[in-house]
Amino acid sequence: MKLLYPIMGLTLVPLISCDANKEEPKQDSPNIVYVFPDQMRNHAMEFWGEDSFSESVRFKPDPVITPNLNQFARESAVFTNALSNCPLSGPHRGMLFTGMYPQNNGVSLNPNSLRPISSLREDVIAWSDVLSQENYSCGYIGKLHLDFPTPTDPENPGHYVEDKKPVWDTYTPPERRHGFDFWYSYGTFDEHKNPHYWDKDGKKHEPKEWSPKHEADMAIAYLKNDSKQRDPNKPFFLVVGMNPPHSPYRSLDDAMEEDYNLYKDKSKSELLIRPNADTTMAKAASAPYYFANVTGVDREFGRILDALKELGLDENTIVVFSSDHGETMCSQGIQDPKNSVYTESMNVPFLIRYPEKIKPKIVDGLFSTVDIMPTLLGAANLKSKIPSSVQGKDYSDALLLDDSSTKFDDGVLYIRNINGEIDSEGKVVSYFPESRGIKTKNYTLALSINKKTNELADVLFFNDKEDPYQLHKLKLEDYPEQKEILLTQLGVLLKETEDPWYEDKILSDLIPY
Ligand code: CA
Repeated sequence: MKLLYPIMGLTLVPLISCDANKEEPKQDSPNIVYVFPDQMRNHAMEFWGEDSFSESVRFKPDPVITPNLNQFARESAVFTNALSNCPLSGPHRGMLFTGMYPQNNGVSLNPNSLRPISSLREDVIAWSDVLSQENYSCGYIGKLHLDFPTPTDPENPGHYVEDKKPVWDTYTPPERRHGFDFWYSYGTFDEHKNPHYWDKDGKKHEPKEWSPKHEADMAIAYLKNDSKQRDPNKPFFLVVGMNPPHSPYRSLDDAMEEDYNLYKDKSKSELLIRPNADTTMAKAASAPYYFANVTGVDREFGRILDALKELGLDENTIVVFSSDHGETMCSQGIQDPKNSVYTESMNVPFLIRYPEKIKPKIVDGLFSTVDIMPTLLGAANLKSKIPSSVQGKDYSDALLLDDSSTKFDDGVLYIRNINGEIDSEGKVVSYFPESRGIKTKNYTLALSINKKTNELADVLFFNDKEDPYQLHKLKLEDYPEQKEILLTQLGVLLKETEDPWYEDKILSDLIPY
């Protein structure tokens, strides 16, 4: 496979002739704006309760206020079954950028300084590599969380950007930006009202305001191009990675008061209305702050949409709203909001609006992280530019052609990796593929293995059609027909995706490889 290497910092467009420059922008190239807050449940969008949407999902929406997303949904293709294959920050982002599974893109675990094995490979072809090659201006604003932290602090060369160990946050130097020419980003950092960012020249900015508000301001400035952030003669690709409603969500240090006031007088049972939510968990106290952050993100996303409209860019711009994974928020009795096979961990918002080409509709096909990059490139009229390294599928025909015959996959792969071997210096030198599973429209199945023996350690199996809140864990052996179908499908997925379970024939007594 021939990999593309983006040429960083060089502009090869000749400056000799104005006419030559005029030919550069392709009239059929839409702009793309991709906004993805972190840890946002698909259930936390108010429009799911509206008549035209409620019959398409099996859940009741959270009692949350999202007026901008409600209007955006009416103008968009809205996916009911968008699933995060590996519902964790870094691994999701690796798949999002490349359309490749973690073992191929390099991001198998959340990157930190003890895990040099987990970092987006420099030689993979990311979405921004393709788009910059296709003459797009590419901008990244906000949380990246794709890079193994290295001592690359631009203000303190040879040092990490933070003192605590392991180091989580990092500065991403130009050679690791995969074609993004505008940069205002950080690795991972969780002080919502005290965020920081490094710009493309490595200058650190600490704006002391709620991060989604600041990122929306930066995104709007990019759209307006008020300080020449982009080439006005090129289409643009802008990604905004917001951190809220990611934790912490404990106090007004984390959320805007105007948003918190909408929820503060509601009881825990008024906020956590699901039959699987345990309102006695300590975490239940975070619900008003979580929903406040959802409402705040909705407002900031709305401001970006308003700016597009004001600038006359809305018709020819593809806008996506999504998230890296869900948030269980007191369901299943678990503290971990993510990184599990439960629907509320894997199911994410995915709304795509393209007024010139995509009619508003509900899409119920199974769609997962690896499909996003190829589908987006397909929607932008760049089908032929989808790299051969991509493992996901281009479903853009289902959107552009109003083609109801598009066949979506019957099952989506679930992945959970944990630290593998650790060397004498404490560095993680391998990852362990602890759990694999499959989600279909009607079933959830995950198998976990013992780290020492590779033998079956746990099975999670649910009938989501009859039990959408996953209250009843079923025994796989009680459903022999479904067991055979699902394990066969899982075997095919593991083989097709070149998963380590297939390579090592893990649980070959159960899974027909
Ligand atoms: Ca995350």
